[in-house]
Amino acid sequence: MINQDFDLIVIGSGPGGYTAAIRASQLGFKTAIIEKYNSLGGTCTNVGCIPAKALLDSSEHYHNAETRFGSFGIQLKDLSIDIDKFFGRKTEVVSQNVAGINFLMKKNKITIIYGTARFASNDKIIVKSAEGTEQEYQSRYTIIATGSKPISLPNAVIDKKRIISSTEALSLNEIPATMSIIGGGVIGVEMASVYARLGTKVTIIEYAANLVPTMDREVTTELKKILVKSGIEILLSQRVDAAVSNGKQVTVKFTGSEGKQQEIITDYCMVAVGRKPYTDGLGLENTNIIKDDRGRIVTNEAFQTSVPNVYAIGDVIKGPMLAHKAEDEAIIAVEGMHGIKHHIDYDRIPGVVYSWPEVASVGLTEEQLKERNIPYNKGKFPFSASGRGRAAGDTSGFAKVLSDPKYGEVLGVHIIGARAADLIAQAVTIMEFEVTDSASSTISYAHPTYAEALKEAFLMASGRGSLNL
Ligand code: FAD
Ligand code: NAD
Repeated sequence: MINQDFDLIVIGSGPGGYTAAIRASQLGFKTAIIEKYNSLGGTCTNVGCIPAKALLDSSEHYHNAETRFGSFGIQLKDLSIDIDKFFGRKTEVVSQNVAGINFLMKKNKITIIYGTARFASNDKIIVKSAEGTEQEYQSRYTIIATGSKPISLPNAVIDKKRIISSTEALSLNEIPATMSIIGGGVIGVEMASVYARLGTKVTIIEYAANLVPTMDREVTTELKKILVKSGIEILLSQRVDAAVSNGKQVTVKFTGSEGKQQEIITDYCMVAVGRKPYTDGLGLENTNIIKDDRGRIVTNEAFQTSVPNVYAIGDVIKGPMLAHKAEDEAIIAVEGMHGIKHHIDYDRIPGVVYSWPEVASVGLTEEQLKERNIPYNKGKFPFSASGRGRAAGDTSGFAKVLSDPKYGEVLGVHIIGARAADLIAQAVTIMEFEVTDSASSTISYAHPTYAEALKEAFLMASGRGSLNL
């Protein structure tokens, strides 16, 4: 018998899916969410943002205790890591977040269906439970929020033992002596930071000429300097030829842009060369839903697929693979079904790398402005001149503002420095509400704060000049 109880069925319980389900329920939709794993929250909660940040924070505490506390006059003896507790805390943080999502599902009267969903046709979904039983569903609306999976390289196949993805790296439960990382993007940099702080000799092998190549080059050049200083080896412009495991170690062979071949042998090799939209087994071939040449489900601005009552959001469609992007799209998709229309400006979605110092960015990079022949003013203020930075001993990095010389519109803000991830929120607000560089510098900033570096960068970009340089 076909179950027709629901106005909306959401496939996938990541930040896109659970946000959509909650908003839909608030708007009065009778809602169900389908998840194939027995833990809600998707990649972000289970094997992404949350566990990565838990390990980053734990390793940062250890690193500070080991290398920085002395300069504050704090002496520690016999510092060591309890590895079970170290990884156990991460698992506990994940459990707390999963419990929070379960609570929200219950509070909002959302039905959770555990099982794997597939389309039998444009308007029929079949869910197969772990026990193998099947149930058919039909609903007024469906949202596909099935997320993404790591890309595997044909010559460096992830075996989940020695050649691993971020998922295994988040649960190694040991501190390896050596680790190679293929890909110096966001995951590569974050996981390199975790293990290098614990004492692992980490080598990043990156194809492009810069780390995190999508971000502003001045910022990523500074990031590279800081990571190298912390002991991470970074090899840029390198093509990986092969990664081969002998069960105990991995040999990675790679060739530089100038043709020089090298190899390194490490205990683990993490492959982090990007992620791809996940639609395996979803039965899209039984529908009129269209994918693009990169396997992403094609939608319009309201996130409707080519089957108008089926929507798609998050990592499975185009745009940056970020949790907050998935959440923003979820709200727009659901509110659109309810007749509330608004849109998303992809140039105003911030991106963050949770290294220390953090890197955060919104809007156009200096390279993009040059490529597009857009004139710009630049204001750049170093944290070494920040009173708060000196007091905290966090003086690395800078805040950089790029703005339109004629009207003062803020075109891009790029920060590398302590708490950049939180500072970027102000830049997003300023850009979203089109506050000029000059006006952004005349509002009040608490002293002493890291945010004052932004004020100084706004002052400089607006041509009024820094008060502290
Ligand atoms: P997902 O979170 O991937 O959720 C999709 C869900 O759908 C999964 O639970 C999956 O099991 C389920 N599913 C798939 N197919 C089916 C099916 N057929 N039937 C039923 N269920 C199905 N982003 C940030 O913004 N900040 C960060 O700090 C950050 N850190 C990250 C760290 C790592 C290591 C990784 C890997 C990613 C990180 N990301 C981060 C990216 C972020 O996790 C994703 O952008 C986000 O999870 C995408 O959300 P989503 O809802 O589209 O999909
Ligand atoms: P990414 O796209 O950020 O980086 C992949 C890197 O691998 C790129 O620098 C690319 O040049 C390099 N690369 C590709 N092929 C290569 C090869 N053959 N040899 C060497 N290098 C190669 O992807 P990722 O780091 O895997 O992360 C996946 C997604 O997860 C990203 O889109 C990111 O947005 C998201 N994520 C976000 C956060 C965050 O917001 N803090 C954290 C982790 C992951």
